[in-house]
Amino acid sequence: DLLVVGSANVDLVVGVERRPGAGETVLGSDLAVHPGGKGANQAVAAARLGARTALLARVGDDAYGRLLLDSQRAAGVDTAGVLVGGAPTGVALITVDPSGDNSIVVSPGANGRLTPEDVRASAALVRASRVVSAQLEVPLETVVETVRHLPAGGRFVLNPSPPQPLPRELLQACDPLIVNEHEAHVILGGAGGGTGGADPGEWARGLIALGPRSVVVTLGAEGALVASGDKVDRVPSVKVDAVDTTGAGDAFTAALAWRLGTGVPLADAAAYAARVGAVAVTRRGAQDSFPTAAEVDAL
Ligand code: ADP
Repeated sequence: DLLVVGSANVDLVVGVERRPGAGETVLGSDLAVHPGGKGANQAVAAARLGARTALLARVGDDAYGRLLLDSQRAAGVDTAGVLVGGAPTGVALITVDPSGDNSIVVSPGANGRLTPEDVRASAALVRASRVVSAQLEVPLETVVETVRHLPAGGRFVLNPSPPQPLPRELLQACDPLIVNEHEAHVILGGAGGGTGGADPGEWARGLIALGPRSVVVTLGAEGALVASGDKVDRVPSVKVDAVDTTGAGDAFTAALAWRLGTGVPLADAAAYAARVGAVAVTRRGAQDSFPTAAEVDAL
């Protein structure tokens, strides 16, 4: 019932004492390999909560592509819509220094080859979905094509990450557009009206004016704002000891999209999503940190 359209990456992580300069070699820790990418993360997060979830994505015909397919299936995601081949699987090459700072090189690989044509060929999958959730780690025109195939009464959720200015057709399809502070500023700035000042309520109102039927602004430990029409409501976060916020936004978006598909109002879906995000930040990793519905209820 939930379709996620987006990226699937493998994260290759090595700890280093310091980063190498040009022409230099340094030795690092043992390699850690994690499935990731915002599309794959959202699909796993939703499936782990119990949502019937499918993924429309592209991976390479290689070992990393098979690792991603296996991890999706292990979480219960329907992978019939995952296309294989055309380029190597997307990877993120990540070094982590002793202070915990990351340096990241992303090779989008197959994610960059998920085309509007692929979406047209998978139109039946889009049409059969109650809610479709997307991000921007695949080409923008692919996401725009997706909204052209939504079923009547179908709902589209977008987390525009990494952010870029969005065409009006895409903005108008969003219900909601889900942004953090940085994404809000880029999208408001791209629309030419300034970046919105210091008040998150103003960002929400400014974004609504660009066309989305609703907007959610996530504020980390401060929770989130939910806006539709001229109404802006605050959704509180849950107080937890955060150890790693990686993937919290993906878990939040997936949970919200799933709840919307069950017919609950946006504010209630966002409140549930905040609880999912709160559990995710208490655990390390991205996909490893995503809770089951029972774990959310126990919070
Ligand atoms: P992103 O990772 O996209 O920047 P946020 O950091 O805003 O997204 O996190 C998404 C959601 O996860 C927040 O709206 C909140 O509900 C929850 N969350 C994130 N950080 C915390 C935290 N430290 N404590 C409790 N909840 C959090």
